[in-house]
Amino acid sequence: MGVMRIVIAGKPGSGKGTQAALLSDRMNIPHLSSGEILRAEIRNATAFGKEVQEYVRRGEIGPERLITSVILEFIERKKYGKGFVLDGFPRTIYQARELDRRFSPSLCILLTLPDETIFSRLPNRLTCTACGRVYNVRELLPEREGRCDGCGSELVHRIDDRHETVERRLEIFREESAPVLDHYRRSNRLVPVDATHSPDAILRDIIKALESLELTNPV
Ligand SMILES: [Zn+2]
Repeated sequence: MGVMRIVIAGKPGSGKGTQAALLSDRMNIPHLSSGEILRAEIRNATAFGKEVQEYVRRGEIGPERLITSVILEFIERKKYGKGFVLDGFPRTIYQARELDRRFSPSLCILLTLPDETIFSRLPNRLTCTACGRVYNVRELLPEREGRCDGCGSELVHRIDDRHETVERRLEIFREESAPVLDHYRRSNRLVPVDATHSPDAILRDIIKALESLELTNPV
């Protein structure tokens, strides 16, 4: 088995975090969420964390070079170069190229679904206030009601889940992701998976795709 580095891409609300977590469990490789990495840097008050915090406080994502350094240094430090499921990164073509230079992903799984489906699911979304993990009141409930399976913190309906906010995020996604997806498509690493099904069914389709590429561990 070779090195398995997987990027999970898709619109906001397509279930990237959920699939990354399920895939990480199933394949026994770490799940790296760019959001969680940034929050951990801030929590641990690292030099990066202090810098990033300034942007987060203003509701900004931060300059792409800074974010790129934070994520890549984290992967380096934790010796995750041998394998990971990465969600939330790369967002831009610059980040995709930098990731290729250091820890080139084997493939990029693109979760596809129509905008209407995302909007219809918004009222069902629950988000962890601490680690950002996303749940769904219909399809993916936490084990303890109102509490995150990962860190035990409180789950809430995010204010970010308002229709207009999501519309704006979908617009940004379309603009930013086009060159990134094209980058993976041209290097034959883009694997689209229909994300309109239940989380378990989507995971099955992802595993099937990995098996057809002979990228899975024999379990
Ligand atoms: Zn949590």
